[in-house]
Amino acid sequence: VSSFAAAQEEEILRLWQGLGYYSRARNMHKAAKLVMQLFDGVFPTAYEDVIKLPGVGDYTAAAVSSFSVNENRAVLDGNVFRVLSRYYGIDVPINTGQGKKIFHAVAQDILPKDQAAIYNQAIMDFGATVCKPKAAFCEACVLRLECVASRENSVSLLPVKIKGKGSRNR
Ligand code: SF4
Repeated sequence: VSSFAAAQEEEILRLWQGLGYYSRARNMHKAAKLVMQLFDGVFPTAYEDVIKLPGVGDYTAAAVSSFSVNENRAVLDGNVFRVLSRYYGIDVPINTGQGKKIFHAVAQDILPKDQAAIYNQAIMDFGATVCKPKAAFCEACVLRLECVASRENSVSLLPVKIKGKGSRNR
C-alpha cells in the first residue's frame, strides 16, 4: 500500500496500460493514499471505513467487511437479487432506488448473525449454480416448497429489471 500510495500517477497509468477502466487505477491510487493517511497503511476491514475509499461501493464494502471479519453486512450482487426476488416473490424492479432499498432491507434482515462470511458466499454461489438466470434447478432445490416464484410459476419472470433507453444510432 505504501509503495502504491507513493508512486506517481503517470507511472501507475503506464503500468496499467491495456487493462482499460483507467478510473480504477486512479481510484486505487487515491484509496492507497487514504489508507496511508487514515489507517496507518493497513487496509481497513470495517464497512464504515472501507466505504470511505474511492471506487468502493456498498457491494465491495459489504464483501470486504463480511469476508474479512464477519461483520454483519449482507452483500447484494446479481445472484443475490435473483434468489431473493424469486424466493420472496418480490417484483419491484431491482435497478430502481425503491427496489434497491427493499432488497437491501430484506437481505440485511435475513442475514444470520455472526455468520455473514459463509452466508454471503453461500447465497452468491447458490444463485450462480442452482437459482440460475436461465434454467434454474427448481426440481432439485431445497427451497422449492417455500419459494414463491416456484409455487406461482413465475421463476422466469423474476427478478424484474427496467430496461434502459438502449443505444442510439448515429
Ligand atoms: Fe430459485 Fe427455483 Fe429454488 Fe426458487 S425453487 S429458489 S426459483 S431454484
